[in-house]
Amino acid sequence: MANVLIVDDSRTSRKILRTILERAGHTVVGEASNGEEGVRAFQEHKPEVVTMDVTMPVIDGVEALKMIKALRPESKVIMVTAAGKDSKVTECIKAGADEFVTKPYEDEAIINAIAKII
Ligand SMILES: [Mg+2]
Repeated sequence: MANVLIVDDSRTSRKILRTILERAGHTVVGEASNGEEGVRAFQEHKPEVVTMDVTMPVIDGVEALKMIKALRPESKVIMVTAAGKDSKVTECIKAGADEFVTKPYEDEAIINAIAKII
């Protein structure tokens, strides 16, 4: 089981994801609604796993991924992409993304992604 930080600008998405994670026995240590808040919450909570939405205001998921990997290279980051919009996938892989899941969130996909990296 892992301590997870959820970073997503959609309140509904965060709620759905929290429910999936907690039902599977993981602990959600924090939530953030953009990349800037996400990096701050990462430093505060030191989660084992971050779920990072790609498309967000202020600082997007790709930039936040780079900042988190610069702060702690061993941290695990799962990138969340909208189905059919994979233009940022290559950039995420180069920046060190550990796993990918697509929205809408599916219980099995997110749980499998965490199991693979912890
Ligand atoms: Mg978004």
